[in-house]
Amino acid sequence: MEWEVVIGLEIHAQLATKSKIFSGAPTAYGAEPNTQACVVDLGFPGVLPVLNKEAVTMAIKFGLAVDAELTQRSVFARKNYFYPDLPKGYQISQLDLPIVGKGHLSIELDDGSEKVIGITRAHLEEDAGKSMHGDFHGQTGVDLNRAGTPLLEIVSEPDMRSAKEAVAYMKKIHSLVQYLEICDGNMQEGSFRCDSNVSVRPKGQKEYGTRTELKNINSFRNVERAINIEIERQIELIEDGGTVVQETRLYDADNNVTRSMRSKEEANDYRYFPDPDLLPVVLEPELIEEIRASLPELPNAKRDRFVSDMSLSLYDASVLTSSRELANYFEAVLVASNNQDPKQCANWIITQLSGALNKAGLDITETPISAEQLGGLLVRISDNTISGKIAKQIFDALWNGEGDDTDSIIEAKGLKQVTDSAAIETLIDEVIANNQAQLEQYRAGKEQLFGFFVGQVMKMSKGKANPAQVNELLKAKLAG
Ligand code: ADP
Ligand code: MG
Repeated sequence: MEWEVVIGLEIHAQLATKSKIFSGAPTAYGAEPNTQACVVDLGFPGVLPVLNKEAVTMAIKFGLAVDAELTQRSVFARKNYFYPDLPKGYQISQLDLPIVGKGHLSIELDDGSEKVIGITRAHLEEDAGKSMHGDFHGQTGVDLNRAGTPLLEIVSEPDMRSAKEAVAYMKKIHSLVQYLEICDGNMQEGSFRCDSNVSVRPKGQKEYGTRTELKNINSFRNVERAINIEIERQIELIEDGGTVVQETRLYDADNNVTRSMRSKEEANDYRYFPDPDLLPVVLEPELIEEIRASLPELPNAKRDRFVSDMSLSLYDASVLTSSRELANYFEAVLVASNNQDPKQCANWIITQLSGALNKAGLDITETPISAEQLGGLLVRISDNTISGKIAKQIFDALWNGEGDDTDSIIEAKGLKQVTDSAAIETLIDEVIANNQAQLEQYRAGKEQLFGFFVGQVMKMSKGKANPAQVNELLKAKLAG
């Protein structure tokens, strides 16, 4: 039996406002417990929430970026449940009238094609506090610093068909919210979290299978692993004659298994109702247009521009636009290299620089080689001052801080490419004189030896001879 996988994601992006969504308390991360929560966040009697305009602006930015319908008149609702980290006894969220309605976003697949993923909605809500189970012996502490922090919950359509697609979509949203500067994207600190809904169905079947929800997994890698292991579990279960039950499951990364947390029957009945303390949010068209005008160039638009204006492949363009910083770096290198060769810039950044950054565990923002330095290096390759091979040496020297720029490293290390034909001919004569036996074999028809001679000449020049000239001159000399 062939199975088809169906996945929909619910992503919580913490909005990068300075203060909470309904109070003036700060949202700064990492402060002493319970120092960033005011009476509103604590749910004291008699206090009233006041909506943070910045949170609304950020939600609208997101909505515009995914071509969504914005709700003219959205409404906050109370989602009631009891938990120690929720002193009010309800979370303010949105249910029937979320601020952002239907939209879409395209992702790139491995085969180089694009796929459009539907976005069902995105709504504003407040975060809860945090229970601290490890800090007190036999007791649990409650830190309410996070209570009232603004979240945008982004719900996708069940449009993804593999764990890979789900991660590609999640990365796309992650990059988008950072481009928009509405979320810092920090997954360790919980600013960007994802619940994955997973089901399987026999290939060709119209109806969806029963889904499970995998909660709060905090890295891209673990989302992929958790979904894959859950797919395997569901298929095995059904093939053994069982049925999947709708439930919430937790991923245990240490053992690479998912475990049942609560079933649908045990799920809360949240008794949603419109929050009487908050007015509906009415979006004026002028405000929306003002925000639209303030949007930066978005990742997919940037990607498409790199493809159409610079003839980059869709793959290269999407790698380079995967983060705003990387895209900015690429454009700065291009300028610093006199806009000569976008493909060359892309190659050096994607293979050489990204490889080195990965190995060192660094982010593009921490690169030891500035865009100006890399651009300067590329200029010297293009004008034939250095060969590609020497360029890699200079790259390493720049990386290690052995010089301020390419020219001073060329100077200090004497790496200038030899393009003087007479000098190259001298080298060739010497190589031929030292390798008479090989010369005879070559002239007797063993043409594979040509590479050997090239290698010897390049070696003798310490890699500095211009390879094209070596080839040409050598051919003539060997022919006799
Ligand atoms: P709930 O209201 O219980 O949260 P929703 O209908 O809002 O459920 O769906 C939540 C998420 O689950 C959405 O991202 C949606 O795409 C996804 N989803 C719904 N049905 C399925 C299914 N059968 N398989 C996989 N994902 C699904
Ligand atoms: Mg939901």
